[in-house]
Amino acid sequence: MTYLDTTDEERDYSVIGSFIPDDSVGKCVYCKHCHPCPAGLNIGLINKYYDLSRQGDPMAKDHYLTLEKTASDCIKCGHCNKRCPFKVQQQERMEEIKNYFGK
Ligand code: SF4
Ligand code: SF4
Repeated sequence: MTYLDTTDEERDYSVIGSFIPDDSVGKCVYCKHCHPCPAGLNIGLINKYYDLSRQGDPMAKDHYLTLEKTASDCIKCGHCNKRCPFKVQQQERMEEIKNYFGK
């Protein structure tokens, strides 16, 4: 209950971003901190299927193709880029994922 008495400043967890190891910068770890996506994309899951598929998982593409919203539904609003603590250029990555899966 103490949380309810804290100020916005005290609830600002952006400092966590400064603890990130250098080799994690720019890599999606599927944490979903960038959610919700205004276009309804499940950004974390889309990235997980993309990485798994590129690592040779034959099921990952099938799973990706069953998603209601895929990378081609990205409206390039930039919300995820601003929210990602790992500094992933997710908007650009969605273009890459769309080209890889064809949708
Ligand atoms: S883009 Fe960033 S915030 Fe979004 S799921 Fe990946 S690592 Fe997390
Ligand atoms: S840039 Fe694309 S994936 Fe990122 S929040 Fe906007 S619509 Fe969603």
